[in-house]
Amino acid sequence: PAIELDGVVKEYLSHGEVVQAVKGVTLTIAEGEFFSLLGPSGCGKTTTMRMIAGFEDPSRGSVRLHGQDVTNVPPNKRDVNMVFQSYALFPHMSVWENVAFGLRRKQVPAAEIKRRVGEMLEIVDLTGREKRRPREMSGGQQQRVALARALVNRPRALLLDEPLGALDLKLRQAMQIELKRIQREVGITFVYVTHDQSEALTMSDRIAVMNDGLVEQLAPPREIYERPATTFVAGFIGTSNLLNGTIDSVASGRALFKLGEGDHVLVAGDSHRAGDPIAVTVRPEKITISTEEPAGDVSVVRGTVSEVVYLGLYNSYAVRLADGAEVTVFQQNALDSSTTAERGDTVWLSWQPQHS
Ligand code: ADP
Ligand code: MG
Repeated sequence: PAIELDGVVKEYLSHGEVVQAVKGVTLTIAEGEFFSLLGPSGCGKTTTMRMIAGFEDPSRGSVRLHGQDVTNVPPNKRDVNMVFQSYALFPHMSVWENVAFGLRRKQVPAAEIKRRVGEMLEIVDLTGREKRRPREMSGGQQQRVALARALVNRPRALLLDEPLGALDLKLRQAMQIELKRIQREVGITFVYVTHDQSEALTMSDRIAVMNDGLVEQLAPPREIYERPATTFVAGFIGTSNLLNGTIDSVASGRALFKLGEGDHVLVAGDSHRAGDPIAVTVRPEKITISTEEPAGDVSVVRGTVSEVVYLGLYNSYAVRLADGAEVTVFQQNALDSSTTAERGDTVWLSWQPQHS
């Protein structure tokens, strides 16, 4: 593994009180992986990164890089580099000088500097702009200079803390694809911090979703999206419906609960018992809406359409259930779309049991 955190805690003393920014994070990042730390502002992402880089010492726990305990090793002795949102380029230096700076300081021979800087500028697609100053470049180009400068030293891992935060949406999306390509090309471990779920879903091999100083789920993007481990993850990633109820009965590895008359929601698992409270989440696009009661081995709840919004590719329905909860349903507008539910209609919502 490239990076191992074991029970890492970071406490700060703030106005005489102990604040836990990171409350105990244990995770392993593989060599060559594109790994993201995703979570809302203040959940401890930057603090976790700074402990990997060595800018902060953990209050408890240990950090290993490439098999070596570095918990008390200073940043410059760790084989990682960090890129920040603010680029931190030298304004008076050209692109070429910015990228070459670290190598020059290490007294790398001039011919090698020339070769490595040239190679790196090609990877970040800035060949031909060597003489420009940072202020003569767009935000996206400046971020690529910062990236080249961090990569030219050939760190074994690159840490990126919200590096695209200052860019507008379109540029950010283009840079996401660009970053993924660069990572594939240089083949090193990337640890990426973001609060933007689509960014993490687009680029990552695996995502650690953080909340309040802890990792709530660590999994590949698809699993995070389709099988959120906690209600926090389900709520934070994408649009999601939360249904609350009480287990009615359990049979052959499945539990059943009802929200209203004629409803039945199937939940997989042997650990449930009748009377247990339960919360399930279902993604809007996994639900089928119909004006007749569906048959088959599916979860079904009945409700009334309170809103229909036409969104081109799909319709978004808001459906009020018997217990007052509102469920969002996305239904694709196929050419032969048979769904014609309108506001006020009674509808049945159904989904495959594995989707909740
Ligand atoms: P994120 O990067 O996810 O937004 P941070 O790691 O920056 O979160 O911060 C996590 C929590 O720790 C926040 O509540 C923040 O206020 C607190 N914190 C971070 N750094 C310090 C510090 N140097 N002193 C006191 N509290 C801090
Ligand atoms: Mg941060």
